[in-house]
Amino acid sequence: MDKKIVLLGPPGSGKGTQAEMMEDELGFVRLSTGDLLREAVRNQTELGKQAKVFMDSGGLVPNELVIGLMKEKIDGLKGGFILDGFPRTVQQAEFLDDIMELDAAVNLDVDDDELVSRLTKRRSCPQCNAVYHLLYKPPQKEGVCDKCSSALYQRSDDTEETVRQRLKVYRDNTFPLIEYYRKKGKLVDIEGEGDIRDIFQRIKSSL
Ligand code: AMP
Repeated sequence: MDKKIVLLGPPGSGKGTQAEMMEDELGFVRLSTGDLLREAVRNQTELGKQAKVFMDSGGLVPNELVIGLMKEKIDGLKGGFILDGFPRTVQQAEFLDDIMELDAAVNLDVDDDELVSRLTKRRSCPQCNAVYHLLYKPPQKEGVCDKCSSALYQRSDDTEETVRQRLKVYRDNTFPLIEYYRKKGKLVDIEGEGDIRDIFQRIKSSL
């Protein structure tokens, strides 16, 4: 698909899972700011060192750092893509508007209690960034990624205390983007609860 999409929605709303399916089944290129930042932290780059303190506390990495990172990545893209976890502030959304015309902002709507349960039971692959849920989407072999056989891990910010902080940060900083994109006529609201494949079908038919 040749569309330019941003995925909105609180942490745990399924952005990563749905972006992964859109990549695998619809041929989108997926850019996840969280994955890129975690990679920078693992590689101990200058950006990674600066970003780590904000990520560990459940806060947002400063706009200048994230925008710099995304500018570099977006410049190298041709054709359609999904941005997963970007923009997360109005300033980031304005940056995107300056450099391109988006096709849609897909907002995944999920209840708070459900979000906490999803995040604390999430397991992630450090190698290929696939995401699992211990109950809803368990890997075929416990603790092992179905796609690349790497050992799965629990993200350090997926503990209950940090999750609650991330939800607060989402409400204060990212929630306003729903109105921002609604006013521009770009918002697509998707019911984000229920079967993962049903949610994927809803997104697919909305595009
Ligand atoms: P995620 O994997 O999308 O849940 O992101 C994990 C963490 O990375 C967030 O809690 C933030 O600390 C940071 N992060 C990811 N995307 C952004 C962004 N667009 N702006 C600022 N910080 C971000």
